[in-house]
Amino acid sequence: MIPMLPALDPQALIESNYQDFLTDLAKSTFSGDIEYSYASRLAVSTDNSIYQKLPQAVVFPKNIEDLSLIGKTANAYEDVKFSGRGGGTGTNGQSLTTGIIVDVSRHMNQVLEVNPEQSWARVQAGVVKDQLNDVLKPLGFFFAPDLSTSSRATIGGMISTDASGQGSLVYGKTSDHILGITSVMADGTVLNTAPMTLDDAKILSQKLTPIAKITQQLLDTCLGKRQQILDKFPRLNRFLTGYDLENTLNKDLTSLDISRVITGSEGSLVFVAEAKVNITPIATFKALVNVKYDSFESALRHAPSMVAANATSVETVDSNVLNLAKQDIIWHSVESLITEVAGKTVLGLNMVEYNSNDQADIEQKIATLSANLDNAETLGVIGYQITYDKADIQKIYAMRKKSVGLLGKTKGSKKPIAFVEDTAVPPENLADFIMEFRALLDGHGLKYGMFGHVDAGVLHVRPALDMCDPEQERLVPEISDQVVALVAKYGGLLWGEHGRGYRSEYGPQFFGKELFAELRKIKTVFDPHNKMNPGKICTPIESTESLVSVSDQKRGEFDRQIPIEVRTSFEPVMSCNGNGLCFNYDTTSPMCPSFKITGDRRHSPKGRAGMVREWLRLLSNQNIDVNALEHNIDPPSWFERFRNSTDKRVDNDFSHEVLEVMEGCLACKACSSQCPVSVDVPGFRSRFLSMYYQRYMRPAKDHLVGNIEKMAPLMAKAPGFINFFLRQSWVNTTIRKTIGYIDTPILSQPTLDQRLNGNAVMQFDLVALQQLSSTQLAKKVCIVQDPFTSFYDAQVVESLVTLITKLGYEAVLLPFMPNGKPQHVKGFLKEFAKTAKTSADFLNQLGDLGLPLIGVDPSMVLCYRDEYTKVLGEGRGEFKVQLVHEWLLQFELPKARQGKTQQYALFGHCSEKTALPTSEKQWQQIFEKAGLNLAAVSVGCCGMAGTFGHEASHIEESTGIYNLSWKQAVSQFQPEQIVATGYSCRSQVARFEEFKPKHPLQILAESL
Ligand SMILES: Cc1cc2nc3c(=O)[nH]c(=O)nc-3n(C[C@H](O)[C@H](O)[C@H](O)COP(=O)(O)OP(=O)(O)OC[C@H]3O[C@@H](n4cnc5c(N)ncnc54)[C@H](O)[C@@H]3O)c2cc1C
Ligand code: SF4
Ligand code: SF4
Repeated sequence: MIPMLPALDPQALIESNYQDFLTDLAKSTFSGDIEYSYASRLAVSTDNSIYQKLPQAVVFPKNIEDLSLIGKTANAYEDVKFSGRGGGTGTNGQSLTTGIIVDVSRHMNQVLEVNPEQSWARVQAGVVKDQLNDVLKPLGFFFAPDLSTSSRATIGGMISTDASGQGSLVYGKTSDHILGITSVMADGTVLNTAPMTLDDAKILSQKLTPIAKITQQLLDTCLGKRQQILDKFPRLNRFLTGYDLENTLNKDLTSLDISRVITGSEGSLVFVAEAKVNITPIATFKALVNVKYDSFESALRHAPSMVAANATSVETVDSNVLNLAKQDIIWHSVESLITEVAGKTVLGLNMVEYNSNDQADIEQKIATLSANLDNAETLGVIGYQITYDKADIQKIYAMRKKSVGLLGKTKGSKKPIAFVEDTAVPPENLADFIMEFRALLDGHGLKYGMFGHVDAGVLHVRPALDMCDPEQERLVPEISDQVVALVAKYGGLLWGEHGRGYRSEYGPQFFGKELFAELRKIKTVFDPHNKMNPGKICTPIESTESLVSVSDQKRGEFDRQIPIEVRTSFEPVMSCNGNGLCFNYDTTSPMCPSFKITGDRRHSPKGRAGMVREWLRLLSNQNIDVNALEHNIDPPSWFERFRNSTDKRVDNDFSHEVLEVMEGCLACKACSSQCPVSVDVPGFRSRFLSMYYQRYMRPAKDHLVGNIEKMAPLMAKAPGFINFFLRQSWVNTTIRKTIGYIDTPILSQPTLDQRLNGNAVMQFDLVALQQLSSTQLAKKVCIVQDPFTSFYDAQVVESLVTLITKLGYEAVLLPFMPNGKPQHVKGFLKEFAKTAKTSADFLNQLGDLGLPLIGVDPSMVLCYRDEYTKVLGEGRGEFKVQLVHEWLLQFELPKARQGKTQQYALFGHCSEKTALPTSEKQWQQIFEKAGLNLAAVSVGCCGMAGTFGHEASHIEESTGIYNLSWKQAVSQFQPEQIVATGYSCRSQVARFEEFKPKHPLQILAESL
């Protein structure tokens, strides 16, 4: 017999000194959040690196006073250590710690002040880089240092890693744009740093304050050892970070800037609280030339000539990355900008950007480049495309920014990992360096994709390794050592962009004994007790504690405790690589609504994948066969589940923490297609729920939702009676209190049957259909009903029938048959499998007749494609249900009667937009053919997502999500202009506004 799902103990208790510290902090005037649940700790135990460290707790300060209180309270606890954290996108474990994570991204995320006249902005450390640029854009400015993670990396993180990226030749690194920093030291002292004259620095250094001691040390090191510093480090665009000894003094040695050592210090000196940054005017004109090559080497060798020709930036990607991008959803946005070359294969691409405020100047530069490219066949150039459109340029860069994530999509257990991923060498050495680097990796038989900032000599490469295999894990230090030697040979740097993190052990080698000792002295004046991100960069001069090392504890050590069959079965859970795209701050992007509204990283695809990974590991450690448990044919009785649900002794079962984060998921499926490695949360969420409820009682609302497709047709038989009750406030109150369901929708009146009475609809009769000739069948279209549209929005189905008729076809209304999606969402997986089988068998019969099957609601139709395939495998058969627009695309439509007098606004359903990225464009084409105007509105999730928004426990999130992007967008239009493809979206608008938008097909049905 298969054992019941056991109660799981959260592991790794909080150490007593940390507990005492947290108790003291909670008793103080600290106003932020203090979280020490196992789930909260797990959520920040990883970043984008191969490492995993469980912190003792996570604190979320709200202001500088809170940061200072953390330090002051910790003065009584010498062993309590911290690591600052922003977006958590580090690639080498920069923010990981076994101490306390101090996360400024949740609350300290305001742009405080912008002064366009003087070209500066003041921001809190948790502001995301794109967030700042969105504030600056209308003023004609931007924060120039760019990085691929601009949608989720914070200014505090950028400062701490001295981030840079595309365009760094012109725009420099983050440190080049810092005018001042407000930070907090380990002991709680608040520091305000900005450049000062050397004379002032010398006067200040005589005092006894903390800042005076720091100034004294920096003068000793940076001035005293100036020549050694200049002799030691190569003059690279990506100069040495952690600590930037060279640039702490300006070139003519007249000023000193303490902020310069804080930038790039990886949280090892201070908590960054606020920064004053300079902002750069946006160039009026931009052009991007995509140059295509016959090989990656040709692209690399050709790049320096374009840098010499004053390009603003030159970025390269190899064919591996290009091919992965071509298979990703993002390719739709760029395919017309990077077209194939007839008879040739594009194996390398240079993206060459020119910026200018003078149109003639930019056109002249492009003309010169084009003339060169036209004659560059011998250099491997096989074609090029130019675009001046800023939106198109952004699309290309979005594709390039997604490259790292896309590499993670590589099939098999070997996944590209970061550990030697950001080397920098003088650009003139880059091509030779890369050839030798490739030989090194090829020698180990490894696969990899390459791309980089060729203008700055920075190469991004992630060799593919299976970190669950201890043999392959051993390659990490071996290859790291070899690459360290290789960059030294080419006069370069191992950490050319992302900082050091667990590669800190190589610090002494790069700096040399003398200068490394200087780093340690600097660390000592900031953080004498080694409390700030200990082991990273260096330790205080007297400290006996070690530096962190590439051989440190990795995620693979935990992952490999899960049996391989379970890892394979839960592939999406295992493949999350923490690149953090799901933390995207942009409210109009669909992924991930639950994170956007909570700001809680547990409630994100990454958080959920991490939780389930740990859950699987804890189960495996108890020798539970997860795959068997999932298919348990003899689940525990009602009584056993009741007993478990009421037993207070299992209140701390870790499964409850997993349930909590799964409950917050809207099952919108945006992650399934938007996450670069397709971490499909709804898929593993329903599997988790199905196992969890083998042990515990289900809430009533789950049964209500799971059975909605059975109940809706019954209720629709007496809509007047049911609606009468649903309109009574006491009924609603009772439903909310007993079942936890709110705003129960009102059934359609007249019903669909009443509406279609007298309409040209063929009643379903399979035998009759089978007897029709192929010519007769060619004029029939089957409508696949879904419960929401048919029973609650029947006028949409009526309009569909009208539209079909107007197009010269006869609609065949298929009998309503449950689709199963609500069962899947709630984890009734056995029931879902049965529903899916019955429905698939039925639809296959019609598919076999060659009849088009069309459905209205995106999430229900998409369920036939995705969840049905997963649950039924080959048993799903070949039937194909099209969405209305997919079917309409084939027609040359008659022109609408009213012409283009009205501008319609399309609010697409997020599951549809993400799974079918061309759907909005296709609706526009259809309207265009009918002589109507339709523009797609950029919005995220509406917050309803099936029944999520109807659950009382989610009303706050649901409303909040609606307010994030829909409310404002809806208010821009007249109600009659708005069309929405999702039933949920139409209901959500109806709930918060005083109207219900139409489905776009209704406009067509009315207009043609
Ligand atoms: C897919 C991908 C692409 C990337 N591309 C680039 C790129 O193009 N260019 C680039 O430079 N980097 C890149 N990175 C690396 C990473 O995004 C940057 O290092 C970024 O600056 C980190 O910002 P964050 O807010 O995520 O910081 P975190 O990862 O949270 O922290 C980074 C470091 O800063 C410290 N820190 C964070 N906030 C504070 C604070 N308030 N006070 C004190 N210390 C703090 C942490 O302790 C840690 O040492 C990439 C990473 C990924 C995953
Ligand atoms: S869930 Fe996807 S987008 Fe989010 S961190 Fe993991 S891999 Fe990246
Ligand atoms: S399904 Fe939607 S809400 Fe759930 S994790 Fe994915 S993106 Fe977030």
